[in-house]
Amino acid sequence: MRLYLDHLVDWKRLLEIRSGGAVDVNVEVGAYRTILETAAALAASFESEARKNWAAEAELTPDGGAQSPPHIRQAYDQLREAGLVSLTVGEQYGGYGLPALLNGIFLEMISRADPSLMMVLGLQTGAASDIEEYGSDEVKGAFLPRFTSGEVQGCMDLTEPQAGSDLGGIVTRATVLPDGRVQVDGQKIYISNGGAEVHLVLARDDDKFEQSRGTTQGLSLVLVPRHLEDGSRNGVRVTRLEKKMGIHGSATCEVVFESAIGHTLGAAGEGFRAMLDLMNVARLGVASQALGLCEAALHDAVAYAHERKQFGKAIAEQPMVMAMLANMTVDTEAVRALLYRTYRLLDLDRARKAALAGGNLPDAEASAIRADLERDTARVRLLTPLCKYFATETCDNITRDAMQVFGGIGFTMDADVAKLHADSLIMTVYEGTSEIQASFALREIGKGGLAVVFKEIRSELAAMADDPLRADLAKRVEGMAERVEESMGVMFSDISYALLRAKLLTEMVIDVIASCELLEQVVADRDRLDIAKSFIARHAIKADYLNRRIAENAEGLLERNARLVARVTSPA
Ligand SMILES: Cc1cc2nc3c(=O)[nH]c(=O)nc-3n(C[C@H](O)[C@H](O)[C@H](O)COP(=O)(O)OP(=O)(O)OC[C@H]3O[C@@H](n4cnc5c(N)ncnc54)[C@H](O)[C@@H]3O)c2cc1C
Repeated sequence: MRLYLDHLVDWKRLLEIRSGGAVDVNVEVGAYRTILETAAALAASFESEARKNWAAEAELTPDGGAQSPPHIRQAYDQLREAGLVSLTVGEQYGGYGLPALLNGIFLEMISRADPSLMMVLGLQTGAASDIEEYGSDEVKGAFLPRFTSGEVQGCMDLTEPQAGSDLGGIVTRATVLPDGRVQVDGQKIYISNGGAEVHLVLARDDDKFEQSRGTTQGLSLVLVPRHLEDGSRNGVRVTRLEKKMGIHGSATCEVVFESAIGHTLGAAGEGFRAMLDLMNVARLGVASQALGLCEAALHDAVAYAHERKQFGKAIAEQPMVMAMLANMTVDTEAVRALLYRTYRLLDLDRARKAALAGGNLPDAEASAIRADLERDTARVRLLTPLCKYFATETCDNITRDAMQVFGGIGFTMDADVAKLHADSLIMTVYEGTSEIQASFALREIGKGGLAVVFKEIRSELAAMADDPLRADLAKRVEGMAERVEESMGVMFSDISYALLRAKLLTEMVIDVIASCELLEQVVADRDRLDIAKSFIARHAIKADYLNRRIAENAEGLLERNARLVARVTSPA
């Protein structure tokens, strides 16, 4: 984290674009450091209570809401008192305007201590950011100060029984009232932190309901509070809490809206776009959540492996155990490399948007910023699903490997490591499953996003040619990028085959970008060469292997798979 804070982000450039003038970088970065250090100390103090109370469930409240168990409420109150909620919201609303990278680091630290608490904070920031981006001045003024003070929390209400991955299935109805407000009626399920005061609801516009049904057109994003301006109850009720395998402290709610009154965010009928923004922020948030959990599992596993003796020595000294721990270390760092690289780009994008919104740039400067923005927006659009996919899939593997390191006790509740694995299992599902992330990535690749990303990667790799430490490794990564392009050539000749192989291609692309960023880190810290070396050694071979699988199994694989599945229902 310090590597990025101190070396790998050009804060001067970022802050000057954002503010449109000179900035005292030392003061700003000093303030960031203080925020993160305070957050780190608090997060560390939450860990033991979170683990002790891991099984404690959220509960329904008599006023039609739901609340987290006491240890989460207490931790939230401490963060609130320290001013550490809704950190990205602008200063005019009482926030810090914290860059996305640092907010991601904050969420990662909280998640390392307690992934359920992270849900509350992540959704609060995500909802507040969407209101900041799409709300009217009146709505922003009414709600954002209450977010930054921590008085209200938020949640996002998308999923319905028939509309999960496919949000075109949404049938919750939004009807515009004569006074311009909106009435919402419908049922949402699996809503995290669904007892929150502020619901951002994706609902289908009443006036185009039948024409738009089955599509993501005609949807509006509606801010629905649990209480109206006069303090009376709005038509929002939590009707059920799910019993789950993990993240018990996070309330997962069925929420019913009956003549609930709200305000549209952004233009009516264009809610899917506004929600996509929120979902993209939330996807990076889940990646940070997964990374925090990787870190927790890794530390538990390493500590146990040093302590536990078999055959007269610590199991950490057994080569196979040591290899597992080493791979867990490297994979955690690779996730961090991809994720922080993405956050850094997102911050630049946001700064450029702020500069353009200011409207007082000379024409030539404004068009240069616009061009940079367009290029980097395409990059972030591809990198976001890659981060979500990579962080959450890696987290599943690392928490599982951590259990293996613990042996039998790892399967019991005497150790905490099984809790970490149980918490990890949902992360490949919510905010869009891994399959959905891979299909988003495929779409962005098909639209030319990969060419934009690889152009940058190739120029970075080329610049490493004169560095004796990195030149050979950079060449191997260049080879991995070539394998990706060969695979694309095979896949994109047939769209069904491309969809079938989307996960493999996604992984190949991730490996190239993470490798490049790990090599970039070596400039700031030569000790990190081992991390880059290990990751690239493993993944250069994987690129060859996946490329061959894609090329050699193209013929008839879909049909063979269909026959194999058919055997289950008709074994004869
Ligand atoms: C604990 C928890 C918290 C949640 N929090 C929220 C929340 O705060 N807000 C909210 O709105 N929702 C929330 N959800 C819902 C979550 O986002 C959905 O469960 C998820 O998007 C998947 O939808 P589904 O369950 O309907 O699965 P389905 O869409 O039915 O998918 C089932 C399987 O089919 C695969 N699949 C589906 N379509 C495709 C495709 N086109 N290509 C390839 N594979 C496909 C999926 O990857 C998955 O493996 C939460 C869920 C849980 C369990």
